[in-house]
Amino acid sequence: MPSKNPRCPLCGKPRDPDFKPFCSRGCRDRDLLNWFGEDYRVPTAQAPDDADDHRFDEG
Ligand SMILES: [Zn+2]
Repeated sequence: MPSKNPRCPLCGKPRDPDFKPFCSRGCRDRDLLNWFGEDYRVPTAQAPDDADDHRFDEG
């Protein structure tokens, strides 16, 4: 009795030995991205220095 086919944990398709435990490179890459994504944060744009140089511009 053959063991039941393991499935890709991401999409549930039959996994590919080349990309186990995933079914394809796409799913494997996605999983990697998920790992990196855990700590990856897009740096928020710093508030630009509001130069007050022109406060007397009217003069
Ligand atoms: Zn998959």
